[in-house]
Amino acid sequence: METKFNCSTFIGLLMIQSVALICVAQDYDFFYLVQQWPGSYSGTQHSRCYPTTGKPAQSFTISGFWPSYNNGSIPTYCDPNNHFNETKLSDLISYLQTDWPSLACPSSNSTQLWGEEWEKHGTCSESGFDQHSYFLEALTVKDSFVDILQMLQVDGIQPDGRVYNLNSLIYNLKSAFYGYNVGIECNEDESGNSQFYQVYSCIDRTGISLIDCPVLPDANCSDSVVFPSF
Ligand code: AMP
Repeated sequence: METKFNCSTFIGLLMIQSVALICVAQDYDFFYLVQQWPGSYSGTQHSRCYPTTGKPAQSFTISGFWPSYNNGSIPTYCDPNNHFNETKLSDLISYLQTDWPSLACPSSNSTQLWGEEWEKHGTCSESGFDQHSYFLEALTVKDSFVDILQMLQVDGIQPDGRVYNLNSLIYNLKSAFYGYNVGIECNEDESGNSQFYQVYSCIDRTGISLIDCPVLPDANCSDSVVFPSF
């Protein structure tokens, strides 16, 4: 009798532990805010189409706001039942059109991109952020910390089609982000040159503070990178 009791208690504990592990597995440690230079969206990987709302402004735009783990892995599709619902974002649409436009072809109103990002990444931040607060947080973080283009221009780094030294670009980006460890990603332009594509900064899990990125993806850049005009 006692053995049976212990056994069922043990199984019960195992089940609780498994449920707890599933919950922990869907949590996250920090956010990557990935911003991209729209002039570098076109290249060997994809061609670029302006959204139906028109050519985006000359500014870095959001590419992703990704809940991530300190070991660099990025959870995805954490809640397949939580579908994107644009009506929940009606007060944010004009800000999203400016700061998070789709550049994919064919031209679109960007809704599909936001939906993909919510379902793939946003659902993994549900312990802290519902759909509205997730997008509001991404916009707030982008607009309140660092204007990347403005900060680079202060140091004479312009999107003028010239080639820049990778190390000086990284040095200037780091100082633009108050000394925090940030990352860069390059892709290839139509001629196969390495071009400055995205900037990875890291935000604590509450979405309040910049932090040193615990880990960064491979930059995939040459020693000299093109900063194309837009
Ligand atoms: P993710 O799905 O968030 O991991 O990001 C990578 C995907 O997002 C790739 O398929 C990219 O082509 C796509 N992507 C990144 N930036 C944009 C953009 N501005 N417009 C449309 N698609 C994009």
